[in-house]
Amino acid sequence: MSIRIAVVGSGPSGFYAAGSLLGQTDVDVEVDMFDRLPTPFGLVRAGVAPDHPKIKSVTRVFDKTARHPGFRYYGNVDIGRDVSTAELDDWYDAVIYAHGAGQGKRGGIPGEELPGNHPAAELVGWYNGHPDHRTAEPDLSCRRAVVIGNGNVAIDVARMLALPVGELATTDIADHAFKVLGDSRIEEIVVLGRRGPEHAAFTLPELLELGKLDGVGIVVDQADIDAAAADADFSTAVRDKLATLADYAAREGQSTMPRRIVLRFSAPPTEIRGDDTVTGVVVTSPNGDTETIPAGLVVHAVGYAGTPMPGLPFDEQRGVIPNDAGRISPGRYVAGWIKRGPSGVIGTNRACALETVNTLLQDLRDGRHVRSGHLPAELVHRLLTQRAPELVDYEAWTAIDAHECDRGAQHGRPRIKLTQVPEMVAVGLNRRSA
Ligand code: NAP
Repeated sequence: MSIRIAVVGSGPSGFYAAGSLLGQTDVDVEVDMFDRLPTPFGLVRAGVAPDHPKIKSVTRVFDKTARHPGFRYYGNVDIGRDVSTAELDDWYDAVIYAHGAGQGKRGGIPGEELPGNHPAAELVGWYNGHPDHRTAEPDLSCRRAVVIGNGNVAIDVARMLALPVGELATTDIADHAFKVLGDSRIEEIVVLGRRGPEHAAFTLPELLELGKLDGVGIVVDQADIDAAAADADFSTAVRDKLATLADYAAREGQSTMPRRIVLRFSAPPTEIRGDDTVTGVVVTSPNGDTETIPAGLVVHAVGYAGTPMPGLPFDEQRGVIPNDAGRISPGRYVAGWIKRGPSGVIGTNRACALETVNTLLQDLRDGRHVRSGHLPAELVHRLLTQRAPELVDYEAWTAIDAHECDRGAQHGRPRIKLTQVPEMVAVGLNRRSA
């Protein structure tokens, strides 16, 4: 008899876990994967920047997993709302939670509630066509935007705001965002690191990419690098980033380019100013001097956090589900950002998911987790169609995918995404053409 496992979440960690389970040779495994959205692939679809198509090509690996006869996809099914975690325990031999950390963290400074300040999760979701964020349109009629944070998401956002719109014309950027970015009047994007450049979380390839944007200046103050350079014990990665920043600082004529990215360091933001909307960001230097940077748009790219899943434990401090090598408790497991926090690149989730799968299988072998017996696949399917009549299976997703790609092909783009759940469902279930 096969083991039936539920995987909650269809992002990279969910798919890597499913692939590993279905690839086991000594045990026969079936995987039912759930996603609250009709569309699979989590952050690969809704997080990776539109101008990074190579990173998105990992979906080919996930698609192969999805074609395995032991795999079923249940999109548009919300675990916690349509089906409880306790029910999943009863229906399956074990459950892996891989639903990610989709909430944008707040910086905790006054003025964050002002219109014009967006968590990066919202802005990234907006330009990637995530249904939750399709209406989060930023006002790009101002001359300067400030991006708070020094991670790769801050760099992604700065690059998206700076890119000549022509470069986005051949990407899968959401249509609504393409139009708004095309009308953008932003000339300067200031990226604020609260610590020195030696502590920047962004990685070298992303930093190098910033220096190659057509028609976009990059402004760095050599004094910031000099202040950092005193320490000789930096890793190669840090040294390479400092050297790249020094190259940028030495470039001439950058600050007069019509559009530019300014990388500022040791500039902790302490307040967002504004009345009806954002007008500037106050930064306070280590010696207490304050400066207000005028800006009409602020993006907080200070990290992500998970949200609690009803019925499961949750570490509020870290925004993760407490676990031991992926085990929440025997029979319940966790993988990806909701397991280890929002860190690493897409591939990091592979090792993370494999650890979880190993823990799960070892628990079954050791008798640490004794299966109580699962419901037959057909019965689960029937129960699910009662709970979520508009569920989208993998075949329906394939129809959505083909529809998006067809729309894209007419405009020389890889796809034009559907951004509303009802239209995804309509296309997937072949009710009408959207
Ligand atoms: P991150 O790498 O953890 O960076 C968060 C940044 O926010 C840090 O610079 C941090 O500074 C800063 N920060 C935190 N709280 C702050 C506050 N209150 N005020 C000012 N700054 C604050 O997170 P992320 O950028 O959201 O990225 C998440 C993960 O996705 C990362 O692993 C990233 O590499 C990955 N990612 C990869 C790519 C890619 O490969 N192209 C693209 C996007 C994202 P401190 O260091 O001072 O705390």
